[in-house]
Amino acid sequence: MSGENQPEPKAPPYKLAGLSGRSRTSVFDLGRGISLGGREFIVMAGPCSVEADPQMLDTAREVKAAGAHLLRGGAFKPRSSPYSFQGLAEEGLKMLAKARELTGLAVVTEVMDSAEIDLVEAYADVLQVGSRNAQNFSLLKRLGRIRKPVLLKRGLMNTVEEFLGSAEYILAGGNEKVILCERGIRTFEPSTRNTLDISAVLAVKELSHLPVIVDPSHASGRASFVPPLAKAALAVGADGLMIEVHCRPEAALCDGDESLDPAQFKNLMAELAALAPHFGRSLSTTPPEAVKTVSL
Ligand code: PEP
Ligand code: MN
Repeated sequence: MSGENQPEPKAPPYKLAGLSGRSRTSVFDLGRGISLGGREFIVMAGPCSVEADPQMLDTAREVKAAGAHLLRGGAFKPRSSPYSFQGLAEEGLKMLAKARELTGLAVVTEVMDSAEIDLVEAYADVLQVGSRNAQNFSLLKRLGRIRKPVLLKRGLMNTVEEFLGSAEYILAGGNEKVILCERGIRTFEPSTRNTLDISAVLAVKELSHLPVIVDPSHASGRASFVPPLAKAALAVGADGLMIEVHCRPEAALCDGDESLDPAQFKNLMAELAALAPHFGRSLSTTPPEAVKTVSL
């Protein structure tokens, strides 16, 4: 019979992540009244990993004072070596929650394993999927069933289409709050830790309504490259940034070389705030609430 042996029509690879008639970036709440995808340029900042007090609280206070919207910090760390610092697990999540309580900053932190989703969700405002897990489809499916936003990092070797395919797994489960994060891809170029694919922001915007942020810290691996790349992200139309900041980068347990110190972060925020209106964005460096004094 005619048509019997016809191949199935090719399903669109990202029905929900795609624009599908929408012309604008989706705007959604990240907790604590912070909305991503609109005019406000959103900055997430903090140490690579949560370390023992007072590092976390000191850094949280500094990034808040500089105008960051969210605090980042890993309690579960995906390290290349099993002998490297693996993170403080639940103890680290508790420190993040304490920092949130004291500063008012919403918290974004990584979940590495499906078995830890409930635990991380109990403490975080936004759950991060790291590059190494960007195609862990069972983890992505499980994150489709939660209602908190998921920050999905681009896999080290993923094309933009594969990146959107990963986002689709989360959306297909019913979770509409997916943030895409371009954090550099692996290329033949050794002068930076990864190669920041700045055009990926444009490519994603052409194909998807999901908000996109840029992580210039993991993209470059070099603190001195972070401010210019952050400005490039603003200029190219990203909706925000994720930046590593540490009170004492030289003593950081993870990724000190790419971490800004508080003074460098403050300068960068002032530059971004001045530039933002030129790119149709706003960024205020005055924190909405006063920073409470941190007592340990
Ligand atoms: C991180 O943000 O802490 C991290 C490990 O990043 P990535 O997954 O992009 O390497
Ligand atoms: Mn890091």
